Amino acid sequence: MDTLAQQPKREINYLNLFWLTATPAAALFGTAWYLIHYGLPWANLFVFAFMYLATGLSITAGYHRYYSHRSYECGKPLQLFYLIFGAAAAQNSVLNWASDHRDHHRYVDSEKDPYNIGKGFFYAHMGWIFYTDPFANERKKNAPDLMKDPLVLWQDRWYPFLVVAVSFGLPTMMGLALGHPLGGFLWGGFFRMVVVHHMTFLINSAAHVWGGKPYSMNNSARDNWLLAPLTFGEGYHNFHHKFPADWRNGIRWHQFDITKWWLWVTYAAGLSSKLRSVPEPLILKARLEVEMEKAKQKLETLPTPPLKEKIQDSLDSGRRQFLSAMEKYQKAKDNYSKAKRYWSRTMRQEIRNEILKYSNELNACRKSWSHAMRLINGLSYSGARNIVILTTLADIFKSHS
Ligand SMILES: [Zn+2]
Ligand SMILES: [Zn+2]
Repeated sequence: MDTLAQQPKREINYLNLFWLTATPAAALFGTAWYLIHYGLPWANLFVFAFMYLATGLSITAGYHRYYSHRSYECGKPLQLFYLIFGAAAAQNSVLNWASDHRDHHRYVDSEKDPYNIGKGFFYAHMGWIFYTDPFANERKKNAPDLMKDPLVLWQDRWYPFLVVAVSFGLPTMMGLALGHPLGGFLWGGFFRMVVVHHMTFLINSAAHVWGGKPYSMNNSARDNWLLAPLTFGEGYHNFHHKFPADWRNGIRWHQFDITKWWLWVTYAAGLSSKLRSVPEPLILKARLEVEMEKAKQKLETLPTPPLKEKIQDSLDSGRRQFLSAMEKYQKAKDNYSKAKRYWSRTMRQEIRNEILKYSNELNACRKSWSHAMRLINGLSYSGARNIVILTTLADIFKSHS
């Protein structure tokens, strides 16, 4: 742990402090005053919705998944869109944002993590922006790719101008075209900017405090389904910290990840390519390791060593079966994709059948493992039921060996 004397000196950044406290006040009082005097014309809602989606997606799909993690590739038109509307989110230039974020992943939960949750909810949410960053120059070393990108450097140079012109000028002009310039300025400018600010900030605060840890127990990041719709899908943060290069955060089809759907649409439209995803067996393996860790913690609470050890042995053998099924499945898939061009139709059919066989085997192991985890949850401090659980576990895993 860092002692106070070791902590680098931080000074207050008065401009940021003023900006982040004055804009919510202006957004709240400005829109309330406007509502009382003019109501809420549809034109204002339209400008708000457009600016909200454009700037929100530019942060999540652009600043985050493209520039910070390079989880896919995209051409200059989309890059320009992200740079222009990302600047309009008023969260710094992408060069600074992405290098902060890369360090957040690299040094998560430690002194060098720019929004270290260990310093409290408010600090991780927005308090960190009120101070100068003692590691600011050092951080840029993690972004040599961005330092070489002329469009990124252009955005960095023109960032203050872009904030004024796109964050406030554009919604005002849109409002003017629809007959409500002040409404455009307040709803599409101030109010939208504050909502997108806090949407992003919640990932650094709430998604490091509340939720489950299905993929990794090694850091504070959580999966929080409730946060996902509020944050353009970034609420599945435990998965993201485990596999940051994956283009998705919510990997299941039903998980609300609007950024993932946006990327899929841009991919279908030919605007982006090479969406990188982690192979399913690796994701399964991560879950397996976490569940094993949780099971071990549960076993620690049992008082009887022989029973405890027998259950542990049974789980170890289940884990080995699961991993071996996973390996066989992945190998068969890799073989198929490497050699399919050179093989005859019969050989291709044969390997497809093999893949199907291993996939069924893997699914069976997965079901048995889930069953075993439910049984482990039913273990109690003492009681005959624990013996029954041990016998059932042995039966489940024997059927696969
Ligand atoms: Zn995080
Ligand atoms: Zn990230």
